[in-house]
Amino acid sequence: DNERPEIGSGTRTKAIMETYGLTFKKSLGQNFLTDLNVLKKIVTAADVTADDDVIEIGPGIGALTEQLAKNAHQVLALEIDERLIPVLGETLADYANITVLHGDILQTQLSALIQEHFDGQHAVKIVANLPYYITTPIVLHLLDEEADFESITVMMQKEVAQRLTASPGNKDYGSLTIGVAYSTDSEIAFTVPKTVFVPSPKVDSAIVSMKKRRQEKYHPQNEVNFKRLVRGSFMHKRKSLWNNLLGLYGKDENIKNKLTSALNSSQIEPGIRAERLSVADFVKLSDSLEEQKLVPKSK
Ligand code: SAM
Repeated sequence: DNERPEIGSGTRTKAIMETYGLTFKKSLGQNFLTDLNVLKKIVTAADVTADDDVIEIGPGIGALTEQLAKNAHQVLALEIDERLIPVLGETLADYANITVLHGDILQTQLSALIQEHFDGQHAVKIVANLPYYITTPIVLHLLDEEADFESITVMMQKEVAQRLTASPGNKDYGSLTIGVAYSTDSEIAFTVPKTVFVPSPKVDSAIVSMKKRRQEKYHPQNEVNFKRLVRGSFMHKRKSLWNNLLGLYGKDENIKNKLTSALNSSQIEPGIRAERLSVADFVKLSDSLEEQKLVPKSK
């Protein structure tokens, strides 16, 4: 009925939880948003319009899903918690443009999902209030694949948002930052106090927007080895780049000589820490290492 308050209003959240006898599963990162202003601001930050298809990760009881459906062409919501599937069927019954799927995003191939459910005529945007216990794996999973989507706009814990958008030299800068900066332009859209969730998490949150570049900005000769180099360079954060490189490529005299040449030709000081290197520095170094025919260990 039209008199019902929207799902993200606190009273409705409480009513839904009671009606279905639901409890919050901490193990699944269930902190539901109960602030319509914040929900609407997320939709605006994601720039969701009738020209867009949206994938939502973790709809919960449907608070964000409802707001997305009001603006988008189609919404596909993927929820891991089986208990919520029939609940979503009822809370979102008024919207013909929503499909709810039961599944784990980390086990789901994004490109297949897009092909199967969308018509290919609309831009695909990913929007979510992420489960915080797996924020990093989810972001890396989304970026790892060559799936055809335009942007990712997601809520995460504020500290992780700062790591994701940090600049070289900043204490928060790391392999996650580089993983994101490699293929997207990212920024913190706005921050959100912990009080707008039930239950309230221990930390404040932020919405991060990551826009995929249409034209690739970085072109390492060997992308797999480039990614291994980045990960390996941050393996021991307190060690110098040089020591991390020895761990990654080996310690033989011959290897040390080649490493020195590669560092020289990319004009990088071996004694610095990886956190000082930009994405472009890593690309240069990776290409110089390729020229020396040095192959990083896979772990
Ligand atoms: N979107 C709702 C909101 O904003 O109120 C709920 C957000 S809650 C922070 C995270 C949601 O993600 C929960 O519903 C949880 O069950 C779901 N979830 C957790 N792990 C998941 C996974 N691996 N794949 C899909 N959904 C997951």
